[in-house]
Amino acid sequence: MFKEIKRKITLFNTLILVVFMFVFILLLGFLVKWSLNLTGEIYLTNVGKEIIENNGESDPPQVNSVDSVHDKVGYQFILWDSSHTVKSMKVNDRNLIMSGYELVIQENQASQFNTMVSDDVEYRVYTLSYSKDSNDYVLQIFQQITTEKSMVAYIIFFLLLIGVGSIVVLIPLSYFLAGKSLQPIKETFEDQKKFIANASHELRTPLTVIQTNVEVLKLKEDEQIKDNMKWLNNIGSESETMAKLISDLLLLAQAENQSLSVEKELFDLSSLCHQMVVLMTELANEKEIELGENITPDIHYRGDEERLKQAVRILVDNAIKYTPIGGKVQLCITQGKRNIVIAVKDTGVGLTEEEKAKVFSRFYRVDDARNRETGGYGLGLNIADYIVKKHGGKIKIESVPNEGSTFSILLPRTNIKQDTKKNNHNNYRIDSFL
Ligand code: ADP
Repeated sequence: MFKEIKRKITLFNTLILVVFMFVFILLLGFLVKWSLNLTGEIYLTNVGKEIIENNGESDPPQVNSVDSVHDKVGYQFILWDSSHTVKSMKVNDRNLIMSGYELVIQENQASQFNTMVSDDVEYRVYTLSYSKDSNDYVLQIFQQITTEKSMVAYIIFFLLLIGVGSIVVLIPLSYFLAGKSLQPIKETFEDQKKFIANASHELRTPLTVIQTNVEVLKLKEDEQIKDNMKWLNNIGSESETMAKLISDLLLLAQAENQSLSVEKELFDLSSLCHQMVVLMTELANEKEIELGENITPDIHYRGDEERLKQAVRILVDNAIKYTPIGGKVQLCITQGKRNIVIAVKDTGVGLTEEEKAKVFSRFYRVDDARNRETGGYGLGLNIADYIVKKHGGKIKIESVPNEGSTFSILLPRTNIKQDTKKNNHNNYRIDSFL
């Protein structure tokens, strides 16, 4: 699919280039022709003046014009009197006299420019009628323009050659650049494909468990419900898993569409962290993990309380999940000069540098088999990262394999300052904690 798009882009670019070059070459050719014609006419006008001033001398002094191509080509002239007899002339090509005569008997305007062909040579002709000493004269000045024409033809030919050459070079270049510019789209597309495949795969597992349990229940239709609670509980727990996964997927889809809204309300972040410790203590106890806290009180923050709670919960939940029995987890909140820092420290399995770089990717799990037991899907950190980034912050990981990890949420304090200016009617004394 992408190859086809790349081919089309290249074709389109080449077409635009060809049209542009064609128009450019034609325009340039026309301009050169027009300017040569104009300077040629000016040259012949000056020559005319000289000849008249020199009383039609057969070899008047050279015209003092710019050293142009017209000077090099030179000129020929015939001066006719009122009875159409040659009074004076400078002609190399004898046929010109006949052609000039035909022209002089037709023309009756004061002065004008024409072109004519004599003996296969093309000429620009300047005809000028004037009177001197009560005699009427017609002066014809001829200039050969074959050289001029072939000059224009050469220019166009060379430009076409350069044009064709550059198109030959530019086609592969354009193909390469099209590939480069399509790369991010391709990556996003591949990501989406992988995401859909992973999501379907993750949904299939609980669905299969539910289907199997329903089949078992069908076989026990004569038995009482209370005797089959095991199967119903299985269905219940798998449905819960599915519901959680679907809500995570929905959140990520919204994040992808940039349609996830984030509230900006001032709230007590210290109290949120404390509540989280209280909430997770039961879970930690079940795993015989000591869940502690080190909370600086009264840290207020303007943001989406629910989303940030979700992010902190993901980190604490992970810390408990990936810390072996008897380990320690601690939730800390402090505020520095620039950031508010929420750190979740554990004495768990830890992460290698390579794993650290990957944990924020969707569906990434360090140890797939073990994590399936712990109930993870590899979406938690991706969601937490998104939420924190939406608040202008970031998540930092410090970890030593087999010793433990510290996941820190850094929230910029500038966020509060800006919002304080906008909402200075707020009840909180923000200045006191800035
Ligand atoms: P999951 O739902 O699988 O936990 P996450 O996105 O939250 O997905 O985490 C991704 C992976 O990062 C986990 O599968 C786990 O291997 C690793 N991980 C996350 N938190 C920790 C931690 N505190 N200690 C060690 N490994 C962790």
